[in-house]
Amino acid sequence: MATFYDLVIVGGGPAGLAAAIEAQMAGLNVVVLDRSRPPIDRACGEGIMPDGIARLHSLGVEPPPKGSSPFRGIRYIDGDTVAEGLFPSSAGYGIRRTHLHQALVDRAEVVGVELHWDTEVTGLHADHVQTSKGPVCGRFLIGSDGRHSKVRKWAGLDRGPAPGARFGIRRHFTIEHWTDLVEVYWADGSEAYVTPVGPNTVGVAILWHKQATSFDQLLTRFPRLSDRLQGAPVTTIDRGAGPLEQRSRAVVRGNLALLGDASGSLDAITGEGLTLAFHQAHALVEAIKTSNLKSYGNAHRKLRRQARLVTCLVLFAEARPRLRRRMVRALAAEPALFSRFLEILVDRLPLSSLGAGNIFRLARRLVAP
Ligand SMILES: Cc1cc2nc3c(=O)[nH]c(=O)nc-3n(C[C@H](O)[C@H](O)[C@H](O)COP(=O)(O)OP(=O)(O)OC[C@H]3O[C@@H](n4cnc5c(N)ncnc54)[C@H](O)[C@@H]3O)c2cc1C
Repeated sequence: MATFYDLVIVGGGPAGLAAAIEAQMAGLNVVVLDRSRPPIDRACGEGIMPDGIARLHSLGVEPPPKGSSPFRGIRYIDGDTVAEGLFPSSAGYGIRRTHLHQALVDRAEVVGVELHWDTEVTGLHADHVQTSKGPVCGRFLIGSDGRHSKVRKWAGLDRGPAPGARFGIRRHFTIEHWTDLVEVYWADGSEAYVTPVGPNTVGVAILWHKQATSFDQLLTRFPRLSDRLQGAPVTTIDRGAGPLEQRSRAVVRGNLALLGDASGSLDAITGEGLTLAFHQAHALVEAIKTSNLKSYGNAHRKLRRQARLVTCLVLFAEARPRLRRRMVRALAAEPALFSRFLEILVDRLPLSSLGAGNIFRLARRLVAP
């Protein structure tokens, strides 16, 4: 390892690698330190929104054909009610985490990022980070070490999990895709996400409120989905994660910035974590290029505020079964409105751009008997 870098990145997951690729492409001298080895797997729904795919394109990373499938929009299924919304133009992609990670690693190698795997970061000091293989110094430091970030804690920026902890678990099945939409099955206290992630492979991620229950138990809450998956071979071991929402006090301290889940993870209910991380990575590298990390703090706040607002709205309905059923019925009756919602999400527009007329129509449907 060299002794001094422009940028030291702790955590070579999707967020850290996206920042590393963009920074190296901008002419910085970047090192990534990760305690695991690629390709790294994670509990994840694996759906990447169209704007997240656009960010990957800009890094020179394409969805790998063998481990990905495009999807045109989202389908909500609540009992017998089915609502569908479509993306405005380009597709999102379901990308198997291991394939996404390998594609990012390959690109990072091509552009010249220095990658150190099996290298655990064990401490943060004023002028270096300590690793299992010795000290590493840099002008800027990024903590992108995931939801339970140690860098966040060491820097005194941790604010712990949000109240009302939720958890997630995922499993993959070999089965022919029955749709090119990501499906979300709603039940009281839990949701199941079905994402196509490659030829004849779907990932099923289930989010729920209480810890310590198994994938099989959770799947019984979704009889329609369970029937579909009957007899389909299971291709991965179950992976869980949680509590999902972790908070940070700030995302910048001195020459240190937090990125991705380390900067505060949201509940996965809108499936935006990766897309958000790619946008953050871009904003952070822009800030580093001008040596102005404060501008990253502002950009991060703006990106997170909108994503959090949408997450909170959906979680509010999720926790109230009657309201949730009405929400899905309203979106089923107003597919154009559902699509407009997705457009606002993908184009990162303020929710108010839904328009007063649409908001009024939606509110009327939510309160109608
Ligand atoms: C059930 C579930 C479903 C989800 N569904 C979706 C979805 O459909 N779409 C979506 O966009 N997002 C989804 N998410 C969120 C998404 O998975 C995360 O936002 C994403 O993984 C964040 O990436 P990251 O690089 O910040 O962190 P991670 O992927 O966690 O990477 C962190 C890296 O840091 C390394 N590391 C940790 N500690 C150290 C250390 N001390 N030293 C060195 N290395 C270290 C780890 O090895 C790891 O490689 C979901 C999450 C869950 C739990």
